Formats: sequence, structure tokens, C-alpha cells
Amino acid sequence: MPNAFQKMTDSELSAQLADLDRQADSLRVLGLKLDMARGRPSPEQTALSRPMLDLLGSDSDLDDQGVAADNYGAPDGLPSARALAAELVGVEPSHVIVNGSSSLNLMHDVVCNAYTHGIGGNKPWCAQGPIKFLCPAPGYDRHFTVTARYGIQNVPVPMRTDGPDMDVVRRYVEEDASVKGIWCVPKYANPTGVTYSDEVVRAFAHLKPAAPDFRIFWDNAYVVHTFKGEGDELMNVFDALAEAGSVDLVYEFASTAKVTFPGSGMAWVSASAADLAELRQAFSSMRVCPEKISQLAHVRFLRDAAGVHAHMARHAELIAPRFALVQEKLSRGLGKLDCATWTDPNGGYFVSFEGPEGSAKEVVSLAAELGVKLTPAGAPWPYGEDPRDTNIRIAPTYPSLDELSQALDVFVVAVKLVSARLAAA
Ligand code: PLP
Repeated sequence: MPNAFQKMTDSELSAQLADLDRQADSLRVLGLKLDMARGRPSPEQTALSRPMLDLLGSDSDLDDQGVAADNYGAPDGLPSARALAAELVGVEPSHVIVNGSSSLNLMHDVVCNAYTHGIGGNKPWCAQGPIKFLCPAPGYDRHFTVTARYGIQNVPVPMRTDGPDMDVVRRYVEEDASVKGIWCVPKYANPTGVTYSDEVVRAFAHLKPAAPDFRIFWDNAYVVHTFKGEGDELMNVFDALAEAGSVDLVYEFASTAKVTFPGSGMAWVSASAADLAELRQAFSSMRVCPEKISQLAHVRFLRDAAGVHAHMARHAELIAPRFALVQEKLSRGLGKLDCATWTDPNGGYFVSFEGPEGSAKEVVSLAAELGVKLTPAGAPWPYGEDPRDTNIRIAPTYPSLDELSQALDVFVVAVKLVSARLAAA
């Protein structure tokens, strides 16, 4: 369907272009320096967790169920930390290793271990010739960077409103033994905000991979990050596996990065008994035990899943108005022009924006000229290559509401101007 600019007569379009150029000039002179590029919590959000810093002092009891947090031991993490992590993702504590402060770091180490040592007694990935990973796109750029770094071929898979296109996934996974994994963000996906439907989760659980060392990398980064209403329900992938009679198929990851402090939270991985035993062995060559003081602070602060949900409700109070402002500004600025669509998620950290074909790079560069930094166009695609150059990831959590409002005004003008220029071309 032609957009509003494409429907204009030549003289209407030149008048529009002149008007939009004037608007852009008036924004340029403001010398703005605004950032909607990365999914970071705002300073008000991280402040919510500062009381955690007061919970451990030099006279604190550092015992957790018989484990001393101030010494080596408990390589799978503190008992209370494992219980909390397990409750949040709905698995048994014995199926969780809490390790380190970054889930991305864990994902990297799991990929690295498969690459150098193999999975389940199979040859290391590095000794199997060219191998592939499936990358639902748009997706999380740092996932794609991990596999690309090991020379693994990242293959884009279309994302739908209920998860990845499972016909495409099934075909690749069941017919091609060089496909070793898939990156998934099953709840409030980065950047679309999509939560996988039960049907999609079940389809994942029923996969019969051609490669015995194929695994699903289930990055449940936003499992508790609802900011609107009741939020989305995600089926528990391990329940789906049990239903399907499948084992050794999923590594699930999560962290408190955007619950407490990014970079200083606690991260964990959950998997089948056999897969977890293999990871335990790999981790044991990397360190004696994880950082348990931070784990202790986290469990004393957050306590249990109910504590986490209450804490996330306070995050939601700060985040929800920002996401509402995105919807309001985009609808008001672009709603009647038919030149763009965007997602309206119930949780997570992003809005995924689709402009006219061939527009995204130019919008991002024009917005930068006008003082607004956005995620580079194409970043949510493997190798940074958005085949249609339409997708832009909007990250509204970090700026203040006033800054966000200005940034969105700039973004709307940039989209309109680029759309008008494309229509005139
Ligand atoms: N996974 C996803 C989908 C993310 O969006 C992010 C951060 O933006 C991370 C993982 C990083 O998590 P961590 O800080 O625990 O490594």
C-alpha cells in the first residue's frame, strides 16, 4: 500500500520536503545529545536496588544454609541463590548453576566449550567443518556476535508475532546436521517484545535435530520484566520438553542484570542433568567457585520470586510511562502516514520499528545528525545486514521522560523526512 508521501502530487511532496527540512534545521541548531541506543535501565531504576548494598557489612552473618559465602565452595552457587534462580524460571534448584554476573558471559562460555570440547561426547564443533546457528531476526546483536566470533555461520530466521517461523526452524534443524544451535529470547524478545506462544514453545520441544549436539539457547533475559497489565505468559520450556519426551535439548539462561545492577547481578544456566554435568565440568576448569557474596546480597534483598515481582513492579512504574510515550509520539507523528509500523510490548526493554524499505540506515544517520543516537540500523540482524533496511530498535528506558520526548520528536521528523525523500526519489 502506498504511504502518504507516495500518494502526494509532486508539488505537495516538494512542499512537504521543504517543511520537513525546516523542522530538521530547527532541531539541528538545538545541539541535542540524546541516546535511545542501548537497553539500559535509567539511574532511577538502578537506584531501586541501592538498598541491597546496605545489607552486607563487616559484621554480617555470611552463612547461607551451611555454606560460607566468604570462602571457596558451592561451585553451583549458594543454595538460596539457586533456589531463587530456579523459582524464577520454574525449574528444580538442582538443575541450576548460578555463576558469574552476566548471562551473556555464560552463553559465550557454553558456546566456547561446545566449540573446543564438544557436546555429549560428540566431536568439538571446531572439528566438524563449517557449522551454523539459527538467528531469529530481528534479534539480539550480542548473541550473533558470540557465534560469529567462533566463525559459526549465523543464519537469519524470520520472526513472527508469536515467535520464530517454526517451519523454517524445523526444516533447518531436522534436515541439516551442520545446524548446531538457535538463539532464542522467548519472552519480550529483544527487540520485538514478542513472547513465544505455547504452540511455538511446544514446536521447539518437539524438534528432532539432525545433529545430536544441537541445542536451543533459551535466553530468558526478560522473564520477570513486565511493565504493562498482567504481562505475557510464557510456557515453561522444560515442561514442554517433558511433554514431548525430549531431553538434552535446551540451555536456559537468565540473570538479574535488569532487576538489580547490570554487570553486577547474578546469572544462571539451567539444563538437563547430563548437559548440566558437562557444563559443571567445563566451569570447574574456569574457576573454583562463583562470586557468592553478590549472590548472598541478592537473596537477602530479593528473597524469593514474590520479592522479585514486587521489585519489578517498581521498575514498571518508571518504565511504563516511557513506553507509553513512545506509543503516543509515534502514533501522533506517524500514525496516519502508513509509512511505518512498530511493536507495543507488555514488557522487556525495546520497541521494534519498521520504516519504509531502504530507510533505516538513513533515519539512524539523520537522527544522529540531529543529536539523537539510535542503535545502528541492521544491528538486530546477523552481520548487521537487514536485508530490507527497514528495522530500527528503539530503547526508551535510559533517557528521562523529557529527554525521551525530545528524542522521539527528532525520530519522527527523521522518519518523515527520509520517507518523503524516498517517495521523491
Ligand atoms: N540477553 C538479552 C536478550 C539481552 O537483551 C541482554 C542485555 O541487553 C542480555 C542478555 C545481557 O544480560 P547479562 O547482563 O546478564 O549478560
